[in-house]
Amino acid sequence: MIVAERKPFAEILANARGADKVLLVGCNTCVAICLAGGEKEVAVTAAQLRLALRGEGRALRITERCVERQCEPEFNEDLGEAIAAHDVVLSMACGVGVQTLAEQFPEAIVYPALNTTFMGRPEERGVWSERCLGCGDCVLDKFGGVCPITRCSKNLLNGPCGGSANGRCEVDPENIPCAWQLVYDRLVRIGQLDRLMAVEPPKDWSTARHGGPRRAVREDTVP
Ligand code: SF4
Ligand code: SF4
Repeated sequence: MIVAERKPFAEILANARGADKVLLVGCNTCVAICLAGGEKEVAVTAAQLRLALRGEGRALRITERCVERQCEPEFNEDLGEAIAAHDVVLSMACGVGVQTLAEQFPEAIVYPALNTTFMGRPEERGVWSERCLGCGDCVLDKFGGVCPITRCSKNLLNGPCGGSANGRCEVDPENIPCAWQLVYDRLVRIGQLDRLMAVEPPKDWSTARHGGPRRAVREDTVP
């Protein structure tokens, strides 16, 4: 899932302040699961905005909406009328959702209300951690399903650095396990430790962001 967190309220308020009518649009998928931009968070943010602006003597009209997946235009089609009736749209989706709205409704002023952080998974209640950088050439098969590119603080592909101690990463021992300890433990568990005898060549980053913005084309589905 895509993990995001709400922007500092002052930033959201600054973007709403110049408008008379604001449309707050949440998304019921990833950002709802990470408690950043679902229906509840839209309601809380709208209430905070009303309160803050009332304190400034302004009666801002705020409309709350939430769509199933803001990153897919078909889910946003019903928003057209509401968007046209408001001065500013505050999107509580990830950056993809924000840009989808802006592209789909080119006349609309669309601002982000969240900071999109990473692709990850929930670890425990209220804690999410990063799992994939979207490198475009997955190597999880070689490392027992643990991604050293994402989970090693130095993106090392041929074993740990000298700072690994007691299974923890020297960059932040309290919060980050050493990815290479995880790789080793996992390969032992599944009987594939010999995989570590292979020397990994330097990674070809052209499939990642280093080749510019990426596109995925499935020729078999293109009409
Ligand atoms: S190897 Fe690449 S695609 Fe696979 S999990 Fe890691 S960053 Fe993501
Ligand atoms: S301690 Fe482990 S996770 Fe941290 S940078 Fe070194 S090898 Fe990577």
